[in-house]
Amino acid sequence: MNPFVLNTEQLIEQDIAHHLHPVTNLHRHKRQGPLVLVEGKGSKVRDSEGRWYIDGFAGLWNVNVGYGRQELVEAARQQMARLAFQPTFFGLATPPVIELAAKMHQLLPHHSHFQFTSGGAESNETAIKIARYYWALSGKPEKTKIISRRMAYHGIAMGALAATGVPAYHADFGPLPPGFLYLSAPLAYRNNPGLSEPGFVAMLAQELEDLILREGPETIAAFIGEPVQGAGGVVPPPEGYWQAIVPILKKYEILLIADEVITGFGRTGEMFGQTTYGFQADITSFAKGITSGYVPLGGVGISPQIFERISAPDRMFMHGFTYSGHPVACAVALANIAIIEREQLWVNAAERGAQLLRRLRELEAHPHVGNVRGKGLMALVEVVEDKGSKKPFDAARGIGERLMQVSREKGVIVRCNDTGFAIAPPLVITEQEIDELVNALAETLDEVL
Ligand code: PLP
Repeated sequence: MNPFVLNTEQLIEQDIAHHLHPVTNLHRHKRQGPLVLVEGKGSKVRDSEGRWYIDGFAGLWNVNVGYGRQELVEAARQQMARLAFQPTFFGLATPPVIELAAKMHQLLPHHSHFQFTSGGAESNETAIKIARYYWALSGKPEKTKIISRRMAYHGIAMGALAATGVPAYHADFGPLPPGFLYLSAPLAYRNNPGLSEPGFVAMLAQELEDLILREGPETIAAFIGEPVQGAGGVVPPPEGYWQAIVPILKKYEILLIADEVITGFGRTGEMFGQTTYGFQADITSFAKGITSGYVPLGGVGISPQIFERISAPDRMFMHGFTYSGHPVACAVALANIAIIEREQLWVNAAERGAQLLRRLRELEAHPHVGNVRGKGLMALVEVVEDKGSKKPFDAARGIGERLMQVSREKGVIVRCNDTGFAIAPPLVITEQEIDELVNALAETLDEVL
């Protein structure tokens, strides 16, 4: 029996009275209350009033296989019934976590070992700690600093937050852990001073090398980066970016952490962003699409070289979470990855992603659309007050709020803020749904701006 009785008015009242929402304007929420969603099928979700929406954001960039997959329900049910929980501390294991580690090695063969977490931030905390631990056990304990980039989003736990390069997430939560350094985002629209694409890449590479030399390579543990920056503003890097960055990191013995929390499991048109962009990290963090959000799970993969070093004699690896390798989450992940592989969802992500970007580019004719960018099924429509100067809208005008209201009225859910729309639908989205989604966004822009 479902304990939730659908009395929408009462639910909204209770939400306002007792639910502290993350990343929400709490003051405004007291007045507006939540949009209560109760059901999903494919790329669509239904609210408590019976209205269906295209979920143009796949939950939070994560429901890759879409809603209503009974195989995932069955995988969870069977594992819960058989053995709901055992930890992975002290050498314990269950069959799903072992099978998932082996499966992840098949998907990311440059990583030999995998540890699991409950989400993206925990995965990045783990990645950062493993990088430092590796250098400590290599006799270089002073290599601790982490290089990140502005506009990066790596999660909101303290270490991941320090690596996050979006100032709004830092404000009033300090002090943050020291030792985090920031480079420019590889965003041509805002950061290219008028150079050719190779010139822009060379500029970014030079900025990295200058920073390393200024700080001293002997103090730097790792560089962390999303293959395509996501939550900070969807930034597909310029051609040749990763090919320019990776050799510099190698030259100065700095580990590369690829944050594939959004880009993993098909979203960029290949199974991982590293394949799309042709590079291999020393450590990969992942989450979201590994279970398509049906249950929480994340994790990291590490290179054989790192594993060799950290499995030194007489050392306990003193890191991990109660839910590292939760058997139910791992069972769901295995069933979810089987769906992604069987349906080759990365192919649909590439094809529908190309359609999405083509259709969104039509919006560039709008007087307030400054830039449209994307890769696979992640895209951003950036709105500006003035196209010539690229001046953003003043927050006081509440543009993001209006875009959200009007797009929902038109039957689509995407992430809206003063920067514009971020779009990342389930990887199963159809050609017709992409058209409906973009048409709704076009009408929204015309109505709001
Ligand atoms: N890393 C990236 C690239 C993300 O996009 C996110 C969340 O959006 C995270 C890390 C944090 O993941 P979580 O919210 O599961 O902690």
